Amino acid sequence: MSARRHEVVIVGGGTAGISVAARLRRARVADVAVVEPSDVHYYQPLWTLVGAGLTDVRKTARPEASVMPKGVTWIRQRATGVDPEARTVPLGDGTSLGYEQLVLAPGLQLNFDAIPGLQAAVGHDGVASNYRADLAPRTWEFIQRAEPGTALFVTPPGPIKCAGAPQKIAYLAADHWRRHGLLDRMRLIMVMPTAAMFSQPDWGEVLKRIAAGYGIEVRHNTELAEVDGPNRRAVLLDTATGTKEELDFQFLHTAPPQSAPDWIRTGPLADPAGPYGYVKVDQYTLRSPDWPDVFALGDVANLPTSKTGAAIRKQAPVVAANVLAARRGAPATARYDGYTSCPVVTAHNRMLLAEFDYTLTPRPSFPVIDTMRPRYDMYLLKRYGLPQLYWHGMLRGRA
Ligand code: FAD
Repeated sequence: MSARRHEVVIVGGGTAGISVAARLRRARVADVAVVEPSDVHYYQPLWTLVGAGLTDVRKTARPEASVMPKGVTWIRQRATGVDPEARTVPLGDGTSLGYEQLVLAPGLQLNFDAIPGLQAAVGHDGVASNYRADLAPRTWEFIQRAEPGTALFVTPPGPIKCAGAPQKIAYLAADHWRRHGLLDRMRLIMVMPTAAMFSQPDWGEVLKRIAAGYGIEVRHNTELAEVDGPNRRAVLLDTATGTKEELDFQFLHTAPPQSAPDWIRTGPLADPAGPYGYVKVDQYTLRSPDWPDVFALGDVANLPTSKTGAAIRKQAPVVAANVLAARRGAPATARYDGYTSCPVVTAHNRMLLAEFDYTLTPRPSFPVIDTMRPRYDMYLLKRYGLPQLYWHGMLRGRA
């Protein structure tokens, strides 16, 4: 079957895909196609605030049509694979698309079913997750209804998007319960798979103090092994000793385990170096070492930095420049330095801003202010400034 062809095919019309599409159109690439099955585009960073009752989930969604750059061909299908030898992308309807350059940006896959009992429990019985638009509002309901007892805040093992998000909701819940006189009657436990609080050690120290300030116990090298929703019981596994502990809970928030989408994980572009199947690309040029007309960015790319929208803001110009270079037959010279940022909301009106690169060197956007201290102006940036930057700057290829 002969494939329809486009000059540049972008798989995924989320944060990364739209940012790159907008930049390529601004650079006058005539024939850009975006493969995106969803009618809705989400600004996911606000889901943390939805879970804490600080904004409405409807504010995080816009019609996909409204963010699709002018002149782009929107293909409302799901990609089901990539054949980099044939330079084609098979689609859910059985057809396929040919490309000259391919940009992979389908995000990652949430694996709620990887923890026994979690899939059935999430959204009920005090089991919450801010990682889906339909679930984040339930987090706030459960926080408000919590009764004295134990609250668990779980970070799963492996790379996840916005690794700080499972901590942020712990601080927001603790702040809410403190303001409503409940915190003293609750036991808060943060469950972390790692030995450290945060990948960047300076901010790790700051977060240790913030957790202690709320009386949160932090269990390192520990994972959620099982959830029994109806009986509100969880099993924790200490991976250092192999010991298991069963705990009753009132409230449990978890990020689900995450991986590349199955069709990427089992395909030729998956990085064999790790178990999660993210796409293998050069960490600086974001180009495949095996197929030079293939690029990947955002959550699906296997990069040694945190998976965030902030990282994508720095990756998108690099991918756009290197796609343009590939189209001219020139070498890929634009480089991404691993910049990422994590706005850690520490209370209903406070935030600190962690920014760093591949070398974990702090990379402050506001060097004159101390963003290691939770601040009200930083909270305002998160609540109001960054969404504006996203919808009007980043998605239009301007920021
Ligand atoms: P996405 O934005 O998820 O987009 C992927 C797109 O691909 C989707 O539109 C999807 O429909 C589409 N797609 C999926 N499968 C296919 C397929 N087979 N074919 C075609 N299209 C497909 N980042 C920050 O910078 N700061 C924060 O404070 C922050 N907080 C967060 C809090 C939470 C609770 C969450 C969940 C995320 C947070 N993030 C934050 C992370 C940020 O939202 C993501 O890193 C970013 O959205 C990833 O962009 P992406 O384009 O790679 O994936």
